[in-house]
Amino acid sequence: MFKQRAADYKDVGNRLLAKLLDDGSDVFAGLSGEHIPILTEISPTQVSALHRIGVRAFVADSCATNSHAAIISRALGIAVLSAVADIRTAVKPDSTIILDADSAKLIVDPDDEMLEYYAQRVQVEELIRQKREKLKETDCLTQDGIRIRIYANMGMPEELPAVKDLGCDGIGLFRTEFIYLSRDTLPGEEEQFEIYRKVLSEMAPLPVTIRTFDLGGDKLLHLIPSPQECNPYLGNRGIRFSLSHTELFKTQLRAIIRASAFGKVRVMFPMIIDVADFIEARNIFNQCVDELYSEGYDYDSSIAVGTMIEVPSAALCSDALAQECDFFSIGTNDLAQYALAVDRNSEQVSRYYIAHHPAVLMLIRATINNAVKHNKPVSLCGEMASQAEYVPILIGMGITELSVNVNSHYHVKTTVQQCDAKLHMIVKNFDFNTSLPEVDKLVYRTLKPYYTKQGRS
Ligand code: PEP
Ligand code: MG
Repeated sequence: MFKQRAADYKDVGNRLLAKLLDDGSDVFAGLSGEHIPILTEISPTQVSALHRIGVRAFVADSCATNSHAAIISRALGIAVLSAVADIRTAVKPDSTIILDADSAKLIVDPDDEMLEYYAQRVQVEELIRQKREKLKETDCLTQDGIRIRIYANMGMPEELPAVKDLGCDGIGLFRTEFIYLSRDTLPGEEEQFEIYRKVLSEMAPLPVTIRTFDLGGDKLLHLIPSPQECNPYLGNRGIRFSLSHTELFKTQLRAIIRASAFGKVRVMFPMIIDVADFIEARNIFNQCVDELYSEGYDYDSSIAVGTMIEVPSAALCSDALAQECDFFSIGTNDLAQYALAVDRNSEQVSRYYIAHHPAVLMLIRATINNAVKHNKPVSLCGEMASQAEYVPILIGMGITELSVNVNSHYHVKTTVQQCDAKLHMIVKNFDFNTSLPEVDKLVYRTLKPYYTKQGRS
């Protein structure tokens, strides 16, 4: 019982510390961009605080690849290493350290030769940046001429300049809950409207897909006291939270609808489990449209309303859902978590988190097929889309829209440009109702030519 309550004790401890230090955000007092903090755990809120301080890298005992803390860190270009053995004996507070996340290495007190090597690596990064500039001017076509749209995932509005600089097709996932994370008060309608208006007008005429708040899970709502849940990921999260706090939901929807007058917006809901769930959320959206109409506001009367497919039940009901929704966006981070019953935040079970598990691929394929059957656009916005090694298999399954992290855009686009029709045939005819080793072989077979071409084998 005490083990289960550990998180509560930690929370009390942290709150006491915050009070003693006057201000909770001051746990990072004294840190600057020159420092590499070594932490036990890290939350999305703390990542955003580190970013504001200018920290470029950190080490955490626990920060699983698909946790929101890791996702935001990647988006903000913060390098992260997690679960580094013996770190507290090897590193002293005044040690000089180099954190090389590309090679998963932490170098303590580097000698001159090592410093010189990393100075050169920084220059190589600059050359890559120049290559990226050239890539912007090229079309995103596979070898056999299929146009693949690549959108960007965005969390915080601070990422907007980097997103605009990519030359992407728009924003495929705007995780709006992150507006809340670094704040002490709830943003009202006007304030949210300003944020969405700015993003939409700066991205116009490109589309921006705004996902309504996905609060709960590890995205703790410190602003609205909620009962503690044993399994927050199975609890009052995502659309469930919004439907149980309709005032908060309506405030957000009104702000989005009003902002639609300034660009091209699409709206989608997180954690939808079936058609009834979607219709309940869409009815509230329609109510907000009616209210704004009678209040005389300008808005786009053709806003597309879609859903995330990130719960296995939604993928299994995607035939019915495709008849109601304007579009789908497949969230593989949660889809894999729920299909395989594996906590996406846990380092302990990370070996069970296999995004290309046949069960997950079958759910993805069913979703794509049902969207195609009803002529509805479908994109994939989970981290799988940002991992270039998965891109060939996703395109082989019929995906033509990917939404990726800012930092993966370059690799994903170059991989797309190397895919061809042969691959589509292999994947199309593949029986996913098979063992994991068989799927591993497929991933390897479809990837091999691309790895070799990119010299990554
Ligand atoms: C997902 O689940 O794949 C997704 C994109 O949503 P999030 O990572 O914000 O839960
Ligand atoms: Mg999700």
